[in-house]
Amino acid sequence: MIRQSKKFLKIIPLGGLGEVGRNMTLFEWEGKILIVDMGLRMPEEDMPGVDYLVPNTEYLKGRAKDILGVVFTHGHYDHIGAIPYLLGRIWRPNLPIFASPLTRGIILKRQEDFPEQPVLKIYQVYDKSRIQLGPFRIEFVRMNHNIPDNLGLFIESPVGNIFHTSDFKFDKTPVNDLPTDFERLRSIASRKILLLMSDSTDAEEEGHSLSEKKILKNLEEIFKASKGRIIVATFSSLINRIQQIISLSEKYHRRVCLEGYSMRGNVEMCRVLGYIKARKGTFISSRQIERFSPSQITILGTGAQGESEAVLMRIALKEHPYIKIRKGDSVVFSSSVIPGNERTVQIMKDEILKQGARVFHYKMMDIHAGGHAKAEELKKMIRIMKPKFFLPIHGQYSMLVAHSQLAQEAGMKDKNIVVAENGDIINLSPRKIYLEKKKVPANYIMIDGLGVGDVGQVVLRDRQMLAKDGMFVIIVVVDKETGKVRTSPDIISRGFVYLRESKRMLMETRKKTIAIVERATGSGRAVNWSYIKDEIRNKIGKFLFQKTQRRPMVLPVVIEV
Ligand SMILES: [Zn+2]
Repeated sequence: MIRQSKKFLKIIPLGGLGEVGRNMTLFEWEGKILIVDMGLRMPEEDMPGVDYLVPNTEYLKGRAKDILGVVFTHGHYDHIGAIPYLLGRIWRPNLPIFASPLTRGIILKRQEDFPEQPVLKIYQVYDKSRIQLGPFRIEFVRMNHNIPDNLGLFIESPVGNIFHTSDFKFDKTPVNDLPTDFERLRSIASRKILLLMSDSTDAEEEGHSLSEKKILKNLEEIFKASKGRIIVATFSSLINRIQQIISLSEKYHRRVCLEGYSMRGNVEMCRVLGYIKARKGTFISSRQIERFSPSQITILGTGAQGESEAVLMRIALKEHPYIKIRKGDSVVFSSSVIPGNERTVQIMKDEILKQGARVFHYKMMDIHAGGHAKAEELKKMIRIMKPKFFLPIHGQYSMLVAHSQLAQEAGMKDKNIVVAENGDIINLSPRKIYLEKKKVPANYIMIDGLGVGDVGQVVLRDRQMLAKDGMFVIIVVVDKETGKVRTSPDIISRGFVYLRESKRMLMETRKKTIAIVERATGSGRAVNWSYIKDEIRNKIGKFLFQKTQRRPMVLPVVIEV
């Protein structure tokens, strides 16, 4: 009996705490692990060439047999996007995976882009479905968000019941979805919640989130006012928004041209599964646009973040084969800008304005800002669930702290709230919740092209250096016999200075290089080439800094002949 009470359930967030994105959480009991979500995150501005950041799964290395299963809450990439990069690392045949029909569809659609991946068998779960994975009994609970088929998790564990909200908002008037079922939430709460894990994305925002119906009204104003074409840029996973644009287009007698690979793919998949409804003949191809008058056209594509490959950028830069911005067009950006993309988006907006279109920027239609509960709703969730303990999840550290303050306003005791970070081990028992001193690895794993984790801090530092001050290559040919430098060293530089205008500095650099080499080779001792290279790197680096106050990456190449 005493032993029993000492046992703790371990909850280990590998991503999503202290950041927006990269959501992934482990629940471990007696060495057996349940995984919830495997998301990705966009890289920071100072990570040149990095495509995505994904969670570090080192803790799971060699433990595939201990993984009971993987459960996905919804189809946004910050919850499912790391699958192609991480699943192979924890893979075993018959690994049970669970997702709602739409989430499953989005996952499988994306897997088509990664043909070397194992074929995934994903079991479909719905609102009220129940599954048993080892010691965990999970009941799925429909939650409103800005993508359909979003599921919260009611987890019965050996230490008590946990409610994981997934991303959520309360919505009494959603579009194409059922309103929040408060009765259901209350009935779950009546089964006693030991721990509530709740979405913190909008914890710093006062009041209530906008209902999808209200967002639809805002969008409709644009449709009412526009005489020309309407061009909307949004995320291809923002299914509710896409549906709203399609419905409004139909209402205002516009045809919809879907542009972009991911947009077309997602819409097609959602139509097959019944999550997007459109009349026959609503969709046209970009080649058919000219057959209609501007007031009969909506163009729906990706690129509100200024992504260089996305449709809107290609249109703005006049690189699109069929679609050019015209006077009278209305261009709608349906997302707030992810930090780091501001400048690109600004440039793109200016380009569009110069070409005569009107620009609407709707922050509240964002994938993050539009889909998440704000302060009053978050407090309401806590009041409904009446948990003993509280763990804010999904958000920057400041959002987690704001959420913990809301929990106190909703009547929770400070000591029953844990603000944790990625890699923390949260121990939970019926009486106690605490963080272990030790942590599991949770640093970023960077994805660059096909490489998973092969771009580390060293490569990144090199890229930052190259991006900031360029590079400077010095090629020295040395006579093996005499130790003398044969000809004047060659210099190649990129992104540092314009060589033709720096002749004097280059001459001095050559002279210095020859002196460094011949001092080292002239002593009659065995020649240490790596020492010579280091000397060139350090001394020439210093010299160039004195002359320019810049620090290019100096790459010495020494050739013996
Ligand atoms: Zn989401």
